[in-house]
Amino acid sequence: MNRLWSDMARRTEPYIPGEQLNRPDVIKLNTNENPYPPSPEVLDAIRAEAARLHLYPSPTAKPLREAIGRAEGLPADHVFTANGSDEVLAFSFMAFFDPGRTIRFPDITYSFYPVYSKLFDIPFEEVPLREDFTLDLAGFAGSDGVILPNPNAPTGLYEPLAGIREILESSKDRVVIIDEAYIDFAGPSAAELIPEFENLLVVRTTSKSRSLAGLRVGYALGSPDLIEGLVRIKDSFNSYTLDRLAQAGAAAAFGDPAYFKETTGKIIATRSRSAKRLVELGFTVLPSSANFLFCTYPDRSAESLYTELKNRNILVRHFGKPRISEYLRITVGTDAQMDRLFGELEEILRK
Ligand SMILES: *Cc1c(COP(=O)(O)O)cnc(C)c1O
Repeated sequence: MNRLWSDMARRTEPYIPGEQLNRPDVIKLNTNENPYPPSPEVLDAIRAEAARLHLYPSPTAKPLREAIGRAEGLPADHVFTANGSDEVLAFSFMAFFDPGRTIRFPDITYSFYPVYSKLFDIPFEEVPLREDFTLDLAGFAGSDGVILPNPNAPTGLYEPLAGIREILESSKDRVVIIDEAYIDFAGPSAAELIPEFENLLVVRTTSKSRSLAGLRVGYALGSPDLIEGLVRIKDSFNSYTLDRLAQAGAAAAFGDPAYFKETTGKIIATRSRSAKRLVELGFTVLPSSANFLFCTYPDRSAESLYTELKNRNILVRHFGKPRISEYLRITVGTDAQMDRLFGELEEILRK
């Protein structure tokens, strides 16, 4: 530990992202990226925008927020954008949660939440998921702030809106953040509850369903008051969190709904085919509403399967955490990638 560090640098326990082994011979099914490239319209928009890189980007990202608003059926004053939904989440912790007021999130969830809590000195309680990994709704009642993903990560389970509504109603004076990184593979979205609940913030990303993990564009949907709170934090931190290429590229992605529909449709079809195949191989697979499958095999350790797959140049995700250490999270790739995976798994399991 460095004696010159601030308290903040000392107490933080940084998030560790999935391995980024971008070798052409490796099949990457470990970070829930989209296996399909971005829409061609995104590439055209980025190419055109590159000629203007000598000028600062829009600090308000208004054209992008309008494009998102059109796609989501909300005015631009209900939309906030930032550098990936991770940055949206970090700003949300600063804008809506307080040191001294305990927030809640599930015990099995996106592992960035405890990292932000510690970084910003916000106390938290983990509400255990039920035995079947569904949310214990009553456990969130009357909290001083709630954050949870829907569908949840890494389980892939989707909580119907009646349950989300129950949480919103029991925490009316504090903000409830629903992290919808995977909602486009599930639905319906809690965004339809925004007119009813001014304490609801819905956080989204272009990283998964819009094939833009490398561009770093996340957004939030909520009442204009919540959006203003986020803008206050952002403008006290960095005026230009989204560069010109990111703003132009993401706006083009929202302007091409046909491509979005086609690629998400393909992933959903591959997901159901892959879940069936895993069950045939002997896995137990949780019903997924996301672009990944969370599964366990009865008499092989998840860690050994992870390692054997890695030795065969297939990366999946294994979390060495209580309750889920015997599970693997497998991103849904293309049909060809999944067939490679099943071929290797057959050989590994035959041994
Ligand atoms: C992937 C993911 C994010 C982060 O997305 P970025 O926009 O790429 O930062 C946030 N929340 C959950 C639950 C995720 O799975």
